[in-house]
Amino acid sequence: MMQIPLVDLRAQYASIKEEIDAAIHAVVSDTAFIGGAHLKSFEHEFAEFCGVKHCVGVGNGTDALFIALKVLGVGKGDEVITAANSFVATSEAITMAGARVAFVDINAATYNIDVEKIEERISGRTKAIIPVHLFGQPADMATILELSRKYNLRIVADAAQAHGSLYRGQPIARLADLACFSFYPGKNLGAYGDGGALLTDNQEWADKARMFANHGRVQKYEHQVEGVNSRLDSLQAAILSVKLRHLDEWTRCRRRNAGLYSQYLKALGVSGPVAIEDVRAAYHLYVIRVEAEIRSKLQEFLNANGVSTGVHYPIALPYLESYNYLNHEAVDFREALRASKEILSLPMYPELTDEQIQYVVEKIAEFLQTAGNRAS
Ligand SMILES: *Cc1c(COP(=O)(O)O)cnc(C)c1O
Repeated sequence: MMQIPLVDLRAQYASIKEEIDAAIHAVVSDTAFIGGAHLKSFEHEFAEFCGVKHCVGVGNGTDALFIALKVLGVGKGDEVITAANSFVATSEAITMAGARVAFVDINAATYNIDVEKIEERISGRTKAIIPVHLFGQPADMATILELSRKYNLRIVADAAQAHGSLYRGQPIARLADLACFSFYPGKNLGAYGDGGALLTDNQEWADKARMFANHGRVQKYEHQVEGVNSRLDSLQAAILSVKLRHLDEWTRCRRRNAGLYSQYLKALGVSGPVAIEDVRAAYHLYVIRVEAEIRSKLQEFLNANGVSTGVHYPIALPYLESYNYLNHEAVDFREALRASKEILSLPMYPELTDEQIQYVVEKIAEFLQTAGNRAS
């Protein structure tokens, strides 16, 4: 029986071991653990990769979002709009900044924020929109940019799952006032610990973010404001520099793997992610949809056959206990609610082989052949 994990970080390390080991050794021999040349180089390289002028490394992706909102002056009395399906960090960052979360339902086909439903959530207090490029699929930025101009709203992109995604030929970081990335180990560009970054073309915001993330410090022991301690450490930066050199190739592999899955699954009547015109999705995850009644049985069956799967996410954000205070009802976010019961993430990583993909699909086919198990 094959064993196929959801993500295989061991396979990736094995493929770049020498480069990684040398990078770690270099940082340790320099004893340059915080700040310094390794961090500077990575920030420079990642800004270039994103087609944006400035990159500020921070402690993690959640802090990147929080700091972006602080830099824009979003806080008490303000509202920030975001998607009802994401990792909790997205909405958590809004609350951390002192603002109120305004959730918007998702588009059933893309799993991203339903741009048709944004306008009705905009109030006099709305300051910003956080589109999440969920699963590496860019949100409908043309409409979001239009709304941001019409209502004078800032855009902070949650690009934690979308390193390398392109929207109409542009790296997604270019389509936001500030774009936030996570380098959590399992992300498309992952560190060997926590890490994150803010990307912007605006020098003033970059400077502010850098200052805020470093205790509000302008000079040693001179603090303009109270900030936080949220830095990307040099070991992580050096590791990320190595991995960044491989990212385009890894994204190509993810896209090839997604193509193979979609091709094989089509015969089973199982729908995978939609391909949007003029968009290059980075396939952080490959998410299929099945009837709610069979999802957990399918998950168990695959697991028993060595195939790990996941659900991203089993509870839509507005229905988490932490948001009980918003008093949302099931009808408020129908699509997010339905998706949370029907979606299933299949193994997805660059090193996945055609043979492994075929095995996963075979097992799904076997499951669906059992009486009563229909895809949709
Ligand atoms: C991972 C993730 C984050 C948070 O990043 P961390 O580095 O774990 O803090 C935020 N938003 C989304 C959509 C994510 O997937």
